[in-house]
Amino acid sequence: MSAFTYCPNCAARLPSDPSNPHAPQSCSFCGATYYHNSKPTAGALIVRDGHILLAERAIEPFRGWWDIPGGFLEPGEHPADGARREVLEETGLQIEIEDSPFAILIDRYGESEDYTLNVYYAARVIGGDARPADDVASLRWFSLDSLPERIAFDHANEVLRRLVESWSKRSSE
Ligand SMILES: [Zn+2]
Repeated sequence: MSAFTYCPNCAARLPSDPSNPHAPQSCSFCGATYYHNSKPTAGALIVRDGHILLAERAIEPFRGWWDIPGGFLEPGEHPADGARREVLEETGLQIEIEDSPFAILIDRYGESEDYTLNVYYAARVIGGDARPADDVASLRWFSLDSLPERIAFDHANEVLRRLVESWSKRSSE
């Protein structure tokens, strides 16, 4: 997140350093300090028979592009719980995820100054019927050897590249 102009707590003007917009800001009136950390997200790589379930984004940024089901974490939420919750909200599917993350990647949220910290789990479907909801326009299973070209976010392209790599290694063994 980029610097605040005014203190969200007491509305006093906050100091800012244009050369370092991500530096922490302290309010000299109320004493609050704001750390502009990356925002955490969690997502699920839902794979079945060499196909992955992707979601067409219904909202900006990247509206109409394909994305990995997932989203921003709620306060205090573990990424594993966040991945399961977001997948249920967006697809209607219950998933089982692996204990350890498949990958953790840093990115920016579209053109904004906000950094994201994105945690991805390998997952499989254990219940429910796939149906797009929330900020998803449609759902589709894509073969891992023919993924769509318009995939939202640099980090999602990177995690899919790693997934395809580990999947082709495994299937050639
Ligand atoms: Zn203040």
